[in-house]
Amino acid sequence: TRLSKHFHIGGNLLGRGKSTLRAVHDVSFEVAAGQTLGLVGESGCGKSTLGRAVLRLHEPTSGTVELDGRPVTGIDAKALHARRREMQIIFQDPYASLNPRRTILDTLMEPLDLHNIGAPSERRARVEKLIEIVGLRKQALSRYPHEFSGGQRQRIGIARALTLQPKFIVADEAVSALDVSVQAQVLNLIRELQDEFGIAFLFISHDLAVVQHISHQVGVMYLGQMVELAEAETLFAQPRHPYTRALMSAVPVPDPHTESQRIVLSGDVPSPLSPPSGCPFHTRCPDAMPRCKEQEPDNHNCGTPEQAHWVRCHLYAPEQVGLHNTQDARA
Ligand code: SF4
Ligand code: MG
Repeated sequence: TRLSKHFHIGGNLLGRGKSTLRAVHDVSFEVAAGQTLGLVGESGCGKSTLGRAVLRLHEPTSGTVELDGRPVTGIDAKALHARRREMQIIFQDPYASLNPRRTILDTLMEPLDLHNIGAPSERRARVEKLIEIVGLRKQALSRYPHEFSGGQRQRIGIARALTLQPKFIVADEAVSALDVSVQAQVLNLIRELQDEFGIAFLFISHDLAVVQHISHQVGVMYLGQMVELAEAETLFAQPRHPYTRALMSAVPVPDPHTESQRIVLSGDVPSPLSPPSGCPFHTRCPDAMPRCKEQEPDNHNCGTPEQAHWVRCHLYAPEQVGLHNTQDARA
């Protein structure tokens, strides 16, 4: 069934941040085969932690992750090793993740050897095909990472992620280090590959324009929580959460006729290790109300049951929405 092709993530995921253990609270989302969920937010908001927790690169995980209807969490090491084939990651800096002393051929063969896939001659054939799929020539296989440009290296990183024919790929700032024109080429390549192979992507980026370009759904994160989640078009046309609005207002609008009011957030991002009480955004939110300090907001669906638009903010609580309506009616 179609549902079994979904990648489902839910619950509280624990992951190790740069130096400390960090939690991602209460997230729940699904990515369908061939679709991309973009994840945006400032650095330190937990995007990468979430991406790694989903792939089980971090331990422990208290939430649940399912791929194709089968759990990836709560399984033993052997089962996890087998399932790793289905989930891959592309990093921001492919150079750092490519061994400088190994040829591209060796690098691409490694996952196939590790998982003991096919006869050696078949492996070689698969790698030769892959390098062409990502837009490089076969000759590239005998070369070393330093002989390539940043964009080419990212293509190699993508080829490596594809060797095991994964169903799901986490791309963590995968184009952030590239020039804008090269970014566009790599993004287009990702889309083509996604269409061809039906891969689900979790696309993590601090760059809203990039996320808008590539995503079907978008999630916005703040201090380890997903504060808004909707279809990409809806989210960019009608951002609801005060944090999302502030993020978007910081992006220059190319059309001079469009009025854009820049929302400048006061204060620094609080430490994710001791997030503020109530709504974690209340210390910086231009719309904060007294209850925001005390009470953690629930997720509210501002969309329809079929096309959800989740917003974690008291402004969208049914009683609050009712209050607005009453006030409007009186005015
Ligand atoms: Fe702002 Fe309150 Fe909504 Fe949090 S719950 S985003 S503080 S209005
Ligand atoms: Mg990161």
